[in-house]
Amino acid sequence: MFTLPETVTSILARLESAGHAAYAVGGAVRDLIRSVPPHDFDLTTSARPEEVMALFANETVIPTGLQHGTVTLVIDHTPYEITTFRGESGYADHRRPDAVCFLDSIEDDLARRDFTAGAIAYSPTRGLCDPFDGVADVKAGVLRAVGDPMTRFSEDGLRVLRALRFASACGFTIEAQTARALHEGKHLIAPVAAERIYNELTRTLCGANIEQVLLTYGDVLAVAIPELTPLFGFPQNTSYHDRDVWAHTAATVAAIAPEPVLRWTMLLHDIAKPACHYTDARGTSHFKTHPEKGAPIAEAILTRLKAERATREEVTVLIRLHDIDLPKERADIHRLLVRLGKERTLRLLAVKESDLSGKSPYGRTHGRDVILPEVKETVEFLLAEGAPLTVRDLAVDGSDLLSLGLRGREVGDTLSRLLEAVIDGTPNRREALLGLIDG
Ligand code: ATP
Ligand code: MG
Repeated sequence: MFTLPETVTSILARLESAGHAAYAVGGAVRDLIRSVPPHDFDLTTSARPEEVMALFANETVIPTGLQHGTVTLVIDHTPYEITTFRGESGYADHRRPDAVCFLDSIEDDLARRDFTAGAIAYSPTRGLCDPFDGVADVKAGVLRAVGDPMTRFSEDGLRVLRALRFASACGFTIEAQTARALHEGKHLIAPVAAERIYNELTRTLCGANIEQVLLTYGDVLAVAIPELTPLFGFPQNTSYHDRDVWAHTAATVAAIAPEPVLRWTMLLHDIAKPACHYTDARGTSHFKTHPEKGAPIAEAILTRLKAERATREEVTVLIRLHDIDLPKERADIHRLLVRLGKERTLRLLAVKESDLSGKSPYGRTHGRDVILPEVKETVEFLLAEGAPLTVRDLAVDGSDLLSLGLRGREVGDTLSRLLEAVIDGTPNRREALLGLIDG
């Protein structure tokens, strides 16, 4: 029915030949059914963890979570998680099971899994095991809880966010009862550890169906990020916009490349708009200083969610910059590249592009950022021709200046002056630059 990679087939065969049942399970089986290449393989077996360790003693086996029955087998640098059939009980804190017990039947293992689409097991020798009709749901693009949705969400609040992640990343429609339980049970995510919330949110944000998820489940997200609440339905009475702040936000998240920094930036870029809003005498909305006010709010959110420092810092910087006036002239665009560096400049342009795409037809054609295509072209031209972005990229260096007799601060100051000269049109060539010093 499916073709599993050879390595997976041989791992399953080794477990079977030792008398155990073994299957591929979870996301990989789901992805094979919907003809998407799986990114990794989770395996499940009746063998106990120590038996798995013993069977693969000649390979790299990491006891990832022995008490939960999981070992990670690494073959050719690829990790395969092998988890013993297990059940869970007593979710007193709505986070983690109080106890797990190992089981002998695959059906019982599948019953503890959260959604039908991930509760399908497949083995080349045993075929499909699909007690919850997950195959039909995957084919129909439906995300459905295994069993009673509210019970499953109360056991583990992370599942609420996992549902949004699967809806976003796989484009699944959440089945009605499961959807209702998500809204009703949204507070169950509150006790979940910040890192796990951040991880799920990031994966959700990077999904292709994110706009729909944001528009439908904003209230759920707001449990993790209450600062989003003022954006919902907040009107923008300006000809540049034809959607409320949240609908605009959702559109811009979807419009940018699915990289965590960019997606988080768009989610939070207008976070301070409601707080900065005022209406002028003609009834037009203004949101002055919202980038400066929004940056520290975004920083606080990402700190609270324990985002990696690099992500937090870059998102904060991009939000602060997102509404700046772009320069038109080549030299000024070169200066922007020097000030921000290549990567940050490209990210800022991407942010502005997606921001612009979420505006009204009038806003897209009359706003200050209508010059974006030309700016982008100039940036690409400058990068392609190898325009110097720091003094290190100049055709002369400090030792050239020292041999000309310059000393101390003069060296750095002169290099900066030479970079300015190149920005203003002097060719970045040794003779041309040395000529400037002599003169
Ligand atoms: P992905 O493509 O993102 O890897 P996945 O479905 O494999 O999707 P994982 O987080 O890798 O998701 O988990 C593997 C499987 O383990 C899931 O399909 C699901 O059956 C089960 N699972 C994981 N986390 C939970 C949880 N919190 N509650 C219940 N079942 C879970
Ligand atoms: Mg997986």
